[in-house]
Amino acid sequence: MDVLTRIRDTQVRAEKDRREGKTIGVVPTMGALHEGHLSLVRAARSSCDIVTVTIFVNPKQFGAGEDFNSYPRVLDRDISVCENERVDVVFAPEAGEMYPEGFSTTVRVSGLTASWEGSARPTHFDGVTTVVTKLFAITKPHRAYFGQKDAQQVAVIKRMVRDLNFDLEIVVCPIVREPDGLAMSSRNVYLSPGERQEALALVRSLKKAEELVASGTTKSLDIVESMKQVLTDSEIRKRDYIAIVNPDTMEPVETLEPGVRVLVAVAARVGKTRLIDNTIVTLAE
Ligand code: AMP
Repeated sequence: MDVLTRIRDTQVRAEKDRREGKTIGVVPTMGALHEGHLSLVRAARSSCDIVTVTIFVNPKQFGAGEDFNSYPRVLDRDISVCENERVDVVFAPEAGEMYPEGFSTTVRVSGLTASWEGSARPTHFDGVTTVVTKLFAITKPHRAYFGQKDAQQVAVIKRMVRDLNFDLEIVVCPIVREPDGLAMSSRNVYLSPGERQEALALVRSLKKAEELVASGTTKSLDIVESMKQVLTDSEIRKRDYIAIVNPDTMEPVETLEPGVRVLVAVAARVGKTRLIDNTIVTLAE
């Protein structure tokens, strides 16, 4: 496995792999790898010749007062995890390599970045789309793997790839959960044992939404009200949003239509930790 920190070395390696006719799959991450990340790595491993994992805690996608400084950084452990998963290339640059003096470009997807995560974290998606564009230019993938955990990010990246004609395929992998249902996240390490229990209310609220849709509820307002109740019953008062939206446009859906996929997403603060989770529901035809 090559562990590379330089952009040029990574591009040269990717060019060589491409010349040899190999398909490259990239898994962009911020490290502190867990089973959620590994599900993406394994999906890439099963369908690409070369698997590249990028590990970069991207300063541009953190807002002022967010957890950039405290974000878990365990590069040595991540490298051995990648080795065990038969990853071919780890690209783990320093911030100065990615954003040298004079860096002045931003890639912005407008519209679907304005709401939900975008309104809670106004500079976040610009940071994501800018870094992902760079990572595509550096690792030259045929396929790029993202988790459904970050549902709005998936919509934004897919739109960017379409709008800018990136010649690659976006593969979206399902949310990996702890045995009790909590969506895996590098941020779960911030939770105290009590908060860890409280956090389960997010999953319960999504289960509630799934049950309501399964029993024929069509009005989003009714679903949102029941989800709010589940969260407040569990002492979660710092709710950022409950979104019932079209998963491609992030536009609100007022009434569910049979056979049409709808994204139900929730964001809330548990203690000081901001958690997000979601599920896709479809009203029976
Ligand atoms: P991050 O390191 O948080 O930027 O995440 C890197 C990638 O892993 C993103 O595409 C995430 O959506 C994905 N990911 C994170 N947690 C999970 C999870 N629990 N299940 C599936 N994918 C995940």
